[in-house]
Amino acid sequence: MTKPLQQNSTIGIIGGGQLGRMLAMAAARLSYRTVILEPQADCPAAQVANRQIVAAYDDPAALDELAHVSAVVTYEFENVPVAAAERLAASVPVFPPPRALKVSQDRLTEKTFLNDIGVKTADFRAVGSDGDLAAGLAAFGGSGILKTRRLGYDGKGQRLFRDFADDPAGDFAAMGGVPLILEKFVPFDREISVIAARAADGAIAAFDPAENVHRHGILHSSTLPASVSPATAKAATEAAFSILEALDYVGVIGVEFFVLGDGGLLANEIAPRVHNSGHWTEAACAVSQFEQHIRAVVALPLGDARRHCDCVMENLVGDDVLRAPELLREPDLVLHLYGKAEARPGRKMGHFTRLRPT
Ligand code: AMP
Repeated sequence: MTKPLQQNSTIGIIGGGQLGRMLAMAAARLSYRTVILEPQADCPAAQVANRQIVAAYDDPAALDELAHVSAVVTYEFENVPVAAAERLAASVPVFPPPRALKVSQDRLTEKTFLNDIGVKTADFRAVGSDGDLAAGLAAFGGSGILKTRRLGYDGKGQRLFRDFADDPAGDFAAMGGVPLILEKFVPFDREISVIAARAADGAIAAFDPAENVHRHGILHSSTLPASVSPATAKAATEAAFSILEALDYVGVIGVEFFVLGDGGLLANEIAPRVHNSGHWTEAACAVSQFEQHIRAVVALPLGDARRHCDCVMENLVGDDVLRAPELLREPDLVLHLYGKAEARPGRKMGHFTRLRPT
């Protein structure tokens, strides 16, 4: 697809959370319609979309309907079943390409892919038994992070070892008998992420790296500019670009990095979608990550990713959302709430960006 999709065409979006919601809003601004595939009725995305298909992500009839009504299909989370994306791709363009899902759904595949294309990561070992765990920890000097290979997010499904394992068999069993990966513990100075985009014609663009702080495994804040040297920022951006090229990617990607004491980088994770650490772009750039993604998937020209001011984005998690009225009194603050009825602990309810005009 290299000719822009006609206005009023429909973009299918798999997943109905806040990322889908913000994608649907960006699509509407460019005069595109959206249909959301999501099992939870009245989900955040469907509240602002044209239509929702209420069904499981792998429901064949629902997928066929989505393909039938959509001119292009995209997704807002990386755990879309690959078979579902491939079924859709047989009859409608699917961006980012399903291969990006395959690579990013399994931490072992992901890290192997990154190393293969010359993007460095923490050392890692596949762990399929308690013996693998003990041997891996021994190889890493006793410390490491044990993670489930699949379906881990926001620090879920992880266990930190600081000084070997007293009971490798018990620790292995406690992870639920699923395939695991042990990563060497990285004593990083800070964490940054790059949100980058690639168009079908090969054009690329990247927003400035954000410096991210996590609390209880959940992103707390993203600060722009990140406290890294221009050389580190450039290296992170170039790594993101090589990932886009290697995947023949179309759309927005998020790449998270650890920054070492000497300014060196290790990639931690790739997210084949818009990313929480890119929410600041809606306030501090003329074209947000959401619009950038929509532009890429409908074959419109990518936007300029320049930042017009410094800023800090903070997530509103659980009861933090009660701060909304007070935040709205602040000048130079952009608030975004997700339309979720219940503020459960750990649930992302919204975010805000404090602009720091120069
Ligand atoms: P992840 O789910 O892989 O994104 O990990 C969540 C968070 O755990 C990261 O943002 C880091 O703060 C921390 N973390 C993950 N892997 C490592 C590692 N190998 N070394 C040190 N910290 C890590």
